[in-house]
Amino acid sequence: MSQTRSAEAFASLRASVRAFIDEEVIPREDLTRGHDGHWVAQTVRQLRVRAVARGLGSPRLAPDLGGLGLSWEECCGVFEEAGRSFLGPGALFCAPPGQPDVMALDRLATPYQRARYLMPLAKGEIGSCFAMTEPAPGVGSDPRMLSTRARRDGDGWVIDGHKWFISGASHARFAIVVARSDAGVSWFIVETDNPGFRIVREVPTMVPFEVSGHAEIRLEGCRVGPEALVGEEGRGLEHAQLRLEGARLFHCMRFIGLASRAMQTAQQYAAKRESFGARLSEHQMVQALVADAHIDLYAARLITRDVACRLDRGESIRHESSMAKVFVSEAVNRVADAAVQMTGALGISEDAPLSTILRQMRPFRIFDGASEVHRASIAKRAFAKGLRP
Ligand SMILES: Cc1cc2nc3c(=O)[nH]c(=O)nc-3n(C[C@H](O)[C@H](O)[C@H](O)COP(=O)(O)OP(=O)(O)OC[C@H]3O[C@@H](n4cnc5c(N)ncnc54)[C@H](O)[C@@H]3O)c2cc1C
Repeated sequence: MSQTRSAEAFASLRASVRAFIDEEVIPREDLTRGHDGHWVAQTVRQLRVRAVARGLGSPRLAPDLGGLGLSWEECCGVFEEAGRSFLGPGALFCAPPGQPDVMALDRLATPYQRARYLMPLAKGEIGSCFAMTEPAPGVGSDPRMLSTRARRDGDGWVIDGHKWFISGASHARFAIVVARSDAGVSWFIVETDNPGFRIVREVPTMVPFEVSGHAEIRLEGCRVGPEALVGEEGRGLEHAQLRLEGARLFHCMRFIGLASRAMQTAQQYAAKRESFGARLSEHQMVQALVADAHIDLYAARLITRDVACRLDRGESIRHESSMAKVFVSEAVNRVADAAVQMTGALGISEDAPLSTILRQMRPFRIFDGASEVHRASIAKRAFAKGLRP
């Protein structure tokens, strides 16, 4: 999928993305409208037009899908630049749920699904969502608890279930619904105008600058034909793993950018603000916060790049992507929290982006596998395979 490009060409592309984010995207952020989904979606749509005009299509997508065809390793730098703004990933069409859905469908879709769903999704003409999580007692962290059923009906299926926290559902043309069929866990495409598909509500959250929110959904007698099955029946958990591994890494790249912006803002504040007869930057406890943030981000970039290179080499990254997800999600939260601490009341206000950054980052320790669940899997593998630390 990725094209060969020289180091100079890549550096120039990265610089172009950085310039676009600084010149056109960050100036459009209005911190007081971070929870106005309509405004966020409209602004992102306008910025996408600007991105395309600058030759900045979706970084990871293949050129035949309208993308730049970057390798995973190259994505690290470009996604970090895009991630510095709340609006950047949407503007470059590298935000979830569309980005990981395109990647998964590119691997799994039938020719019919490619033409009807994947191509318009990749071009940004329609939206998608991925519907796995259910309210208790359904599936959350433990995939065995999936309770949505897909019952055979003629040559198709009838799906019944209750989902929630489904990002992008309210703006989606179709949902990839994860349900249990006779063969096991399976994926089905359900068009959102199917009479059996109903949005119950948008779940309010602490997270600002969401292009499309998180919805609660009911599937009631939802009939789909044989063309709805994605990939192989009964292999839905493997498909979900494939979708998630890439999605996690993209989150790492983006949030490294946002955390770096938070600490840069805090450093600028500490370089000028005085207390007890000295600049904040001269107090050793402030210096420790800055040093730890630099160490965290350096390590976060290295671990993310290593997993990206493994993906480029076609290696299995199950174990490494879990370690990267835990480390990076916790590191960027530490950095954002330190940035808020260093800037005092300004950090808590919405006059600066720091509190917004902290709120946007906090869920990363929960979605795509909570830290505790990844730690449990890492340790289980270490004992089962006798892995050397
Ligand atoms: C912003 C956001 C967007 C999301 N988007 C989507 C989406 O588009 N589609 C979708 O299907 N889902 C989505 N989700 C849901 C997400 O996948 C789930 O929140 C996640 O899988 C955890 O499930 P849960 O919330 O039910 O937590 P639970 O399973 O109830 O777990 C709660 C907590 O218990 C702890 N815990 C759980 N298991 C263990 C264990 N084995 N050992 C130790 N501690 C444990 C962890 O701390 C965990 O955070 C989203 C969530 C968020 C926050």
